[in-house]
Amino acid sequence: NSFKGLGICDQLVEACENLGWKTPSKIQVEAIPHALEGKDLIGLAQTGSGKTGAFALPILQALLDAPQAFFACVLSPTRELAIQIAEQFEALGSGIGVKCAVLVGGVDMMQQTIALAKRPHIVVGTPGRLVDHLSNTRGFSLRALKYFVLDEADRLLNEEFEKSIDEILNVIPRERRTYLFSATMTKKVHKLQRACLRNPVKIEA
Ligand code: AMP
Repeated sequence: NSFKGLGICDQLVEACENLGWKTPSKIQVEAIPHALEGKDLIGLAQTGSGKTGAFALPILQALLDAPQAFFACVLSPTRELAIQIAEQFEALGSGIGVKCAVLVGGVDMMQQTIALAKRPHIVVGTPGRLVDHLSNTRGFSLRALKYFVLDEADRLLNEEFEKSIDEILNVIPRERRTYLFSATMTKKVHKLQRACLRNPVKIEA
């Protein structure tokens, strides 16, 4: 089993090698071929499974084909996880000039506004702060978004986040790919899945 065998392009295979990723993890083996076929994904996976690579690699491969600003948006329940996700995008995308912005609470809005002015390809954030920027930061919109990721979806489903997620869903295109990852499949996650995903393929780590 190899990244190349899953359909990952040479540039990104090299990026994996540079990170010391020799073989794909189980969730990556299951997710990547479907993702490259353009399917929506619902993944049952914990942190440590390699789930970030499972969604980042197909997104970066699609970005290489048609580069644009605000190509993908990843929602994370915590600041720490958002930073880790952005770091993986940057590490995998370093050879291809991928720009990321991290939009999380508890940090000065201004710094993030400056990062958005650089028109990053990937935006990773917590729902509340992302909505703050969508309403207040000129030039930032997700109207041309191609990929939407809900990471640790079970932890995204509290009252405050749900309101923000609804607002985000109202301003992103219907025509997009959506990946939802969660450690557990609760009723609420199922409801979110029905609201966001189209004929998803189910995968498990
Ligand atoms: P994640 O579950 O996405 O948070 O990833 C957990 C850790 O596994 C991160 O430090 C990744 O860099 C690492 N990782 C992801 N995929 C692979 C792989 N195929 N081989 C080795 N390490 C990996």
